[in-house]
Amino acid sequence: MDSVTVRAWMQGIAESMRAERDHLVALDSAIGDGDHGINMNRGFDAVEVALGAEPDATPGRLLILSGKTLVSTVGGASGPLWGSALRAAGRTLGDRTEVAPEQLLEALSAALAAIRDLGAAVPGDKTMVDALEPAVEAIRAALAAGRPLDAALAEAEEAAGVGMRATTPMQARKGRASYLGERSIGHQDPGATSTTLIIGALRRATAGAA
Ligand code: ADP
Ligand code: MG
Repeated sequence: MDSVTVRAWMQGIAESMRAERDHLVALDSAIGDGDHGINMNRGFDAVEVALGAEPDATPGRLLILSGKTLVSTVGGASGPLWGSALRAAGRTLGDRTEVAPEQLLEALSAALAAIRDLGAAVPGDKTMVDALEPAVEAIRAALAAGRPLDAALAEAEEAAGVGMRATTPMQARKGRASYLGERSIGHQDPGATSTTLIIGALRRATAGAA
């Protein structure tokens, strides 16, 4: 993948957040403050604008710029979390113009580590980590087994979806939803839901471009 792929990924996320904004708002209204769809939609619309002003940027630079844009435009927890994640991912890529599957895995691992460092959530806390961690581990396993990137990302999207659905019976232990205690049980986590959309956008962006 190259900078065209990264642009397509960010654009695909922006489209998904636009399309799913009301759904994400509804999920966040049940266990949070109802702004998650608005946050992600606003953030990734701003990312599209920011990337449009950087026609010659490398993949790493595009991800770092996307992360910075999220931090500066999103007020909720998801802005700093995904902002740090994309900056960390971008930093692993350095100045390279072509990103091999193993380098994409390293970048996504760094994104997950950044979210875990900043938010201190572990799997089972009913957060975006519950979708992102299985997705990253699915890519790792698929590449280790010699499968191509498109297969690895299809497995990652599937794993993210399984992780997302598994958040429903969990009690939230991080973020706003944790204030609800046991009343957070029975609702799918909004951040795990948007994370699954982000992985789906990555799969679509790399399809045919791997
Ligand atoms: P806020 O909670 O500030 O309103 P959002 O509504 O945009 O922010 O995002 C909520 C999502 O952020 C949650 O559904 C959860 O997935 C994620 N989240 C919240 N706190 C954490 C954390 N400490 N670590 C990881 N993810 C978190
Ligand atoms: Mg919220």
